[in-house]
Amino acid sequence: MKIAEITQLLDELAPPSYQESYDNAGLITGDASIECTGIICTLDATEDIIAEAKNKGCNLVVAHHPIIFKGLKKITGKTYVERTIIAAIKNDIAIYAIHTNLDNLLTGVNGKMGDKLGLQNRKVLLHRENNLMKLYTYVPVEDADKVRDAIFKAGAGQIGNYSECSFNIRGKGTFKPGEGTNPHIGDIGKREETNEEKIEVIFPAYLKEKLVNAMTEAHPYEEVAYDLIALGNYFLEVGSGLVGELPEPLDEADFLQLVKKVFGLSVVRHTSLINRKVKKVALCGGAGSFLIKNALAAKADVYITADVKYHEFFDAENKMVIADIGHWESEQFTIDLLHDVLHSKFPTFAVLKSEVKTNPVSYFI
Ligand SMILES: [Zn+2]
Repeated sequence: MKIAEITQLLDELAPPSYQESYDNAGLITGDASIECTGIICTLDATEDIIAEAKNKGCNLVVAHHPIIFKGLKKITGKTYVERTIIAAIKNDIAIYAIHTNLDNLLTGVNGKMGDKLGLQNRKVLLHRENNLMKLYTYVPVEDADKVRDAIFKAGAGQIGNYSECSFNIRGKGTFKPGEGTNPHIGDIGKREETNEEKIEVIFPAYLKEKLVNAMTEAHPYEEVAYDLIALGNYFLEVGSGLVGELPEPLDEADFLQLVKKVFGLSVVRHTSLINRKVKKVALCGGAGSFLIKNALAAKADVYITADVKYHEFFDAENKMVIADIGHWESEQFTIDLLHDVLHSKFPTFAVLKSEVKTNPVSYFI
């Protein structure tokens, strides 16, 4: 199996177009056309991870954080980033990062945290714009099923857990084939009327090209009539952070104990407890201060995230508890998520979880 087949699956899991503008997700080093010898899943692709991959005979590192985040002007081995890149290239090891595109999925990094805490009724905290589109196309009645099948197969018509959603209406289409045409129905220079179906489907914007290709291939007309409409609707599964509910309310201290246990923490940095039961929990793996206002607006009792600065803790305004559990700690289960997705797709292939703990932060207790 080629590395490209694995990266293609990861691109489908978390489409690269869902990454933030500052991000650098995707293939960072390596040749995707070579055979994959094994995969290591990790949060950080550091020098130790490249050494581990080499020792275990794996030539693909799938990391959450991109090792190259901003431009490198020299690669001399002065910094750990440069040394990691040199080691990866010398040893023909590909590094693939699946970062904010995985953060921005309700079933991604945050979904895994929500699973661990048993959160129900989950929603995205901050939706992203311009992620949904609509396609209208007009097809002769007898060919409508074939075209519908093709566009569903290309990924259109998925709404929540419902697939193959479409709206269809019959009407009359007209056209007059001009000189040099090769019409499916009718004669050159004569207006033709046909019974057509207008098919309407919703789809994620990143599938636009794939969908138009699938539709035009299945469509009988030489010139296919279709409209692509950008929608203002939010794609409910895509966006930053997550808010959900505990099955039963807990006292704040009991809840923080649960968080400590689930995430294996020695310490939690948090704002004052406000003596309220915890039912609604907002969370964001990694640096999530930018969502404090969204967690407040969602009326969360607690907001679990990491990398919260001193002044940002004040923003809780005694209306919720902010709990900073550490960046690595909050995202640690992403390794399981990546491993499980890859292992279930390629069950006989070597997909390993890294045994190196890359967390650069320690606590002196
Ligand atoms: Zn992170």
